[in-house]
Amino acid sequence: MSQKVQAVIVRAKDAPVETVTIMVPDPGPGEAVVDILTCGVCHTDLHYKLGGIGNDYPYLLGHEATGVVSKIGDGVANVAVGDHVILNWRAVCGQCRACAKGQAQYCFNTANATRKMTLEDGTELSPALGIGAFAEKTLVAAGQCTKVDEDVDAAAVGLLGCGVMAGIGAAINTGEVKRGESVAVIGCGGVGIAAIAGAKLAGATTIVAVDIDEDKLAMARKMGATHTVNSKTNDAVEGIKSHTGGFGADVVIEAVGRPETYKQAFYARD
Ligand SMILES: [Zn+2]
Ligand SMILES: [Zn+2]
Repeated sequence: MSQKVQAVIVRAKDAPVETVTIMVPDPGPGEAVVDILTCGVCHTDLHYKLGGIGNDYPYLLGHEATGVVSKIGDGVANVAVGDHVILNWRAVCGQCRACAKGQAQYCFNTANATRKMTLEDGTELSPALGIGAFAEKTLVAAGQCTKVDEDVDAAAVGLLGCGVMAGIGAAINTGEVKRGESVAVIGCGGVGIAAIAGAKLAGATTIVAVDIDEDKLAMARKMGATHTVNSKTNDAVEGIKSHTGGFGADVVIEAVGRPETYKQAFYARD
């Protein structure tokens, strides 16, 4: 039986977001309903609202969440009712060419729930990144649930589902940072500080953090940055070069998403 819950949606491009009642169906085979505990606010939700991702309105927003599994469909073996889980964008198949190579981040055959959450009038919702967690409950493919310990901080661990994975993945998978390399990260929000943590995990020895906010730069140092550049008062490219022997960094990660900072990232490379 469908359950009625409160959720945050956007009905049309740049329309104001609204809290409305939605219908969450019972999970189909391989699916799970998750009662949401916490959900981060990620810039991608704003992109959905502004029409930058697609035109499949209405969108059910939210995608960086922690919750408790409350219902499972047939054949679900990876989680059980009562499990605390974080949600991830896609359930990887484990069998395609990318998965077989150990590169599940490039899986060709990821799954989302196929049953549809709807408005009360039956209008189908498009869940942001296949999740839609600005809601009391959401429906996902069971493989999108990753079990976590019950006693971890739900608000903190949920960040693994988007910002942390994006930043660490940028450093380790996309940037392929190696031991001893120098890395610069432009933009020290959630993704940027995760990229700094990823660079540190990968063994980078010089990690230059660039931002215009001193508080963010202080956090960047806590996460592993060895040098910081405040690009409000200093040139970002010159600052990065000054900390890398004048050459520029081996890997530069741009975590702002603006043409100006992308150009800086290009010119700050060795
Ligand atoms: Zn996100
Ligand atoms: Zn796959």
